Amino acid sequence: MKTSSFHIVPLPTKIADAARRGVSAAAADHALITVDSPGSSPCRHCLRWAQPGERVILFPYAAIPSGQPYSETGPIFVHANDCQRYSATNEYPTEFRNGRVFRAYDSNYKIIDAEIVDGSEPEAVLQSLFQNPDTAFVDVRSATHGCFTFRVQRA
Ligand SMILES: [Zn+2]
Repeated sequence: MKTSSFHIVPLPTKIADAARRGVSAAAADHALITVDSPGSSPCRHCLRWAQPGERVILFPYAAIPSGQPYSETGPIFVHANDCQRYSATNEYPTEFRNGRVFRAYDSNYKIIDAEIVDGSEPEAVLQSLFQNPDTAFVDVRSATHGCFTFRVQRA
């Protein structure tokens, strides 16, 4: 499978660490949660599902910055304890091959295309979206909950 056409961008470590400081400071928009069911809380930093018993922080993240018509802030999870940022950036994360929606944006943060990925090959869908020269990046979100999962950029 060709994977050289894209580059996975997990949540930056500085944002995960800021969320950890936020929950320590009892920020009103940061919640500390103990996961009780598998497949419910994806960590955007290590790009793995949190396991039952693990603690996660739920907080709002501006995947598309303010000041745009397509601005979007929504809830995401990160592990409460330090975890290793996803590093296999030329490989699509195995735990998120299904139940995702891919939104293609241009360089002005405008949504120009979108595809549901559930049972199809995510690499092939990414390759197809990046064939459009206007596609600057693709945001991967939960198809059901709509929450931002990670970003994909051109390699
Ligand atoms: Zn994690």
